[in-house]
Amino acid sequence: MSRDDCIFCQIVDGDIPSRKVFEDDIAMAFLDANPLAPGHTLVIPKAHHETLEDTPEDVAAHVFGALHRLNTAVEHAVDADGTNVAFNNGEAAGQEVPHLHGHIIPRFDGDGGNPIHAVAG
Ligand code: ADP
Repeated sequence: MSRDDCIFCQIVDGDIPSRKVFEDDIAMAFLDANPLAPGHTLVIPKAHHETLEDTPEDVAAHVFGALHRLNTAVEHAVDADGTNVAFNNGEAAGQEVPHLHGHIIPRFDGDGGNPIHAVAG
């Protein structure tokens, strides 16, 4: 997929609206449009890399650093008891949007189920 056809690249460019919660030169985070829980957040590299294998290690490390900080912020924002953090990596793993993204899914004591299964599709 080219950058022009990628919905997350269009979000980075501001051509598709998003509820942005973080941005720096390399990474961006926004709320998932179909949240599995309140505060469900996606963290992406701003450059178009489809999978983890396609992503340079320094970019992946930067994205994970942002995810690390955002995980704490999201937990506090929605008063979660924990989070599921997941990267669906590749079509076989349920990755529907071919632009690397990490999910932060808030969890609450007694909420039941396992959103990872839903994320994996
Ligand atoms: P899955 O749909 O199985 O979770 P992915 O791991 O590829 O597969 O996740 C894509 C995520 O992107 C989904 O959670 C979906 O709700 C979200 N999403 C799709 N389009 C948008 C959008 N325009 N803005 C925000 N989130 C989006």
